[in-house]
Amino acid sequence: MPENLILVLGDQLSADVSSLAGRDPERDRVLLAEVMEEATYAPHHKKKIAFCFAAMRHFADLLREKGWEVDYIKLDDAGNTGSLGGEIKRAVERLRPARLVVTEPGEWRLQDEVQGWEQALALPVDILRDDRFFCSRAEFAEWAEGRKTLRMEHFYHEMRRKTGLLMADDDPVGGKWNFDAENRKPASQDLAMPSPPRFEPDGATREVLNLVAERFSSHFGDLEPFWFGVTADQAGQALDHFIAECLPRFGDYQDAMLTGERFLYHSVLSLYMNAGLLDPLEVCRRAEAAYQEGHAPLNAVEGFIRQILGWREYVRGIYWLRMPEYRDQNFFDADRPLPGFYWTGDTDMACLRAAITQTKEEAYAHHIQRLMVTGNFAMLAGIDPSEIHEWYLSVYVDAYEWVELPNTLGMSQFGDGGLLASKPYAASGNYINKMSDYCGGCTYSVNKKTGNGACPFNPLYWDFLARNRDKLEGNPRLAPVYKTWDRMSDDKRRAYRESAAVVLASLAG
Ligand SMILES: Cc1cc2nc3c(=O)[nH]c(=O)nc-3n(C[C@H](O)[C@H](O)[C@H](O)COP(=O)(O)OP(=O)(O)OC[C@H]3O[C@@H](n4cnc5c(N)ncnc54)[C@H](O)[C@@H]3O)c2cc1C
Ligand code: SF4
Repeated sequence: MPENLILVLGDQLSADVSSLAGRDPERDRVLLAEVMEEATYAPHHKKKIAFCFAAMRHFADLLREKGWEVDYIKLDDAGNTGSLGGEIKRAVERLRPARLVVTEPGEWRLQDEVQGWEQALALPVDILRDDRFFCSRAEFAEWAEGRKTLRMEHFYHEMRRKTGLLMADDDPVGGKWNFDAENRKPASQDLAMPSPPRFEPDGATREVLNLVAERFSSHFGDLEPFWFGVTADQAGQALDHFIAECLPRFGDYQDAMLTGERFLYHSVLSLYMNAGLLDPLEVCRRAEAAYQEGHAPLNAVEGFIRQILGWREYVRGIYWLRMPEYRDQNFFDADRPLPGFYWTGDTDMACLRAAITQTKEEAYAHHIQRLMVTGNFAMLAGIDPSEIHEWYLSVYVDAYEWVELPNTLGMSQFGDGGLLASKPYAASGNYINKMSDYCGGCTYSVNKKTGNGACPFNPLYWDFLARNRDKLEGNPRLAPVYKTWDRMSDDKRRAYRESAAVVLASLAG
């Protein structure tokens, strides 16, 4: 009879996660369970399910090597109840532990469920802080208390001070907190682009791939080729590769998009950090060391660290501060259904086709594709935020609600009315043309503003602003845009709105 039954969730695959730290392999028992409920609460991409189960199975092996006794429930094991609650109940009946220990779940949905277990199981349940994050939920709430605005940049300065990352005593290294002014260059095809390392599936991963092929064949996305790492060791190799090959140019081309270049200089590390295979502090320290050793410039290293120390922590803070109400916010009362091409990539718009096709094939798109292509289009077209939220939660290998929801609903859809972003990330085709080479190969003309053959982003952009004027015109950052709209002739404004109506009508088909 174990003293503690330790439940390790699928995104807690860190050997030193708080539920395992300080426990005793002689006395305690670990439980990991693959359950249908977790694999299907959103219609997850096949690669995402495979990554999760394969990483869990390898993690169980690692724990066994370290001397732990692990109860591992596979999806198709006889008697699998299909839910975490069911598997906990079975394990408690089987093992009769004195208490249950779990690190706080990342998602509100699960936290809500876990909080009911003590009563349901008549067993003490310890829910421990997840100290793999720099900022605890309580600390974030304290930071937010009494502030008029909760801007990421202010929070990020606090985190720099707290961790000492890129700090010279009390000052930021290089004299500035943020070097974004030096970033955001468009990229060209003649740059040599590195590719993230690809890992050949071993026998255990192959078994998972067969399971996913059989049980989740109707889910979105291509299962093969499957090349993600599924162990901490492989995630470490991906980090080494990023630091050596990509980090020096990360800042310059952070916002660029190129046909056929799916990763550019991005790290493709979010999946590993979010599942627990990489420690965010180690990732930041490695980037900082690359700057100190003269391997990567400050604009790149600061920009990269800000994504993890700033954005990643900040969106988690917002999530826990505002859930569960946050999920239902819909500032623009948008209610259009998600167009079918989000699930197929079957559209003449080259930018959307590229972003969605690569999402289908890789379960990955980089930030600007998510924000300024699929996200921007959905907001301009007035897509229901709950539908676009479900899409993002399903299709990316790194998607967990704590990080996906604030990014989708807050940053990309402005659904929270400006809690997270100071203005909507709305852009016409001009932005996409500036930052990518998509428009050259598109059926539509980015320079045509209205009428047949015009880039759909152009009329949708102005229609979105006109449609939501009562909600947006008080925003000082949008004042110049509304001035431009007001200076247009009536005919021009009418042409934009009529063209937008044609685009919107076509989405229903
Ligand atoms: C609509 C939308 C949905 C998103 N959904 C997710 C999601 O489900 N899971 C997820 O991890 N990220 C999400 N992001 C944030 C970001 O797009 C991804 O973290 C990034 O694209 C992952 O690729 P990468 O590892 O190559 O990142 P890089 O560009 O190399 O960035 C480095 C790291 O910084 C972190 N990061 C960067 N931007 C953000 C951000 N805005 N929020 C949180 N962390 C960030 C990630 O951990 C990432 O690995 C979303 C962004 C948008 C606009
Ligand atoms: S023309 Fe418009 S739709 Fe086509 S790729 Fe450019 S921005 Fe996208």
